[in-house]
Amino acid sequence: MGGKYATETLEATKGGIARAAEILRAGGLVAVPTETVYGLAARADKADAVARIYEAKGRPSFNPLIVHVSSMERAKKLANFEPEAEKLAAAHWPGPLTLVLPRKEGTGLADAVTAGLPTIALRMPDHSVMQALLVEAGVPLAAPSANRSGFISPTSAQHVLASLDGRIDAVIDGGECRSGVESTIVAVRPDGSIEELRPGPLSIAGDAVGKSEIEAPGQLASHYAPGKPVRLHVTMPEPDEFMIGFAQVAGDCSLSASGDLEEAASRLYACLHEGARSDKPRIAVAPVPTEGIGKAINDRLGRAATPAD
Ligand code: AMP
Ligand code: MG
Repeated sequence: MGGKYATETLEATKGGIARAAEILRAGGLVAVPTETVYGLAARADKADAVARIYEAKGRPSFNPLIVHVSSMERAKKLANFEPEAEKLAAAHWPGPLTLVLPRKEGTGLADAVTAGLPTIALRMPDHSVMQALLVEAGVPLAAPSANRSGFISPTSAQHVLASLDGRIDAVIDGGECRSGVESTIVAVRPDGSIEELRPGPLSIAGDAVGKSEIEAPGQLASHYAPGKPVRLHVTMPEPDEFMIGFAQVAGDCSLSASGDLEEAASRLYACLHEGARSDKPRIAVAPVPTEGIGKAINDRLGRAATPAD
């Protein structure tokens, strides 16, 4: 695609992971499969490496990053775990749950990782490749989704290359992501109360939603945008619309013909990428129930359908 870097595609093997760890230790950027979406990893303890994430993504600097760790021991070096946070981590880590916790002083992490907030977002991913990479790299890795800021998240190495080829050092091709939507983000306050900042694969805090934009800058109204108009809750598409179906509502592509919400989540971004690539100037999406992971699907669809300012 032409760009600053000759982006390497690495295999999800011991050799590929060793090469990725070498690039990361040197301060480079590597896109890595996780169980949610592909992340764009850099070492979180080097300001210039973190700065390169923001540059490659075109991400606003007020939007902090999730720090990925391989162990509870490592996580506790970075944040204060109240008993409630400890319980959540014990129940759901490794897994698609990000905890926003009071950050410790003197951790050595780059300030840009937390965008100057007194809190830090931590996650222990449930994916063998990301886990192996964290262990091999030996440092916490900051990793937002591996896409240009504001656009559709990647669930395959091809999606990553479609937006970041030439802008990053490498991508590890680990096939398609299992879950397909980004982690649930939950803040645990010093008083032990819990606030859900972003719905995701896990339902933790009922229907509570984050209130402040600084606290959850990723909750911007327009995000995950395919670059053309998106119309929701459609059962009869117009001729110029690329139709994304669900259950009995058919389409040019279907989230899940059997109406399975887990399958729909795993196919959400692939369908949006297909719609973005199609000749049709608009995208329509069938209704998806808001139960369980359907809440996260509708959250992402709502923001994909909101035009950027
Ligand atoms: P992404 O990595 O693109 O999936 O986005 C990461 C999300 O984590 C964004 O929505 C951020 O707002 C959120 N996040 C990261 N750090 C914090 C933090 N310290 N407090 C609240 N939200 C955070
Ligand atoms: Mg993202």
